[in-house]
Amino acid sequence: MLIEPRKESDRGGYLCLPLCKNIPEGKPGWKKIHCPSCGEMCWWSPENIGVIYHSHLDGAVCTECALRIRPVDQESKIKEAQSWNYRRDRSKR
Ligand SMILES: [Zn+2]
Repeated sequence: MLIEPRKESDRGGYLCLPLCKNIPEGKPGWKKIHCPSCGEMCWWSPENIGVIYHSHLDGAVCTECALRIRPVDQESKIKEAQSWNYRRDRSKR
């Protein structure tokens, strides 16, 4: 089985949407949406589309979910890196 490094995941990530409970009054143009991950109300800014597109992000979630998601991503990346080192060491012998 061939395992290739996932390049897409390297530049992925989530945009942080400020929570309505943290910022009761949003800026003009902001829209209240439900966080796609936890359903909490958060603020959506029209510029987000461009930011997500240009930064190759996976999407947008509220601040709390962004904090929750990030450590998991890093952990899986570390495991991935370790497995690659392991494979390289084995092939040398
Ligand atoms: Zn959320």
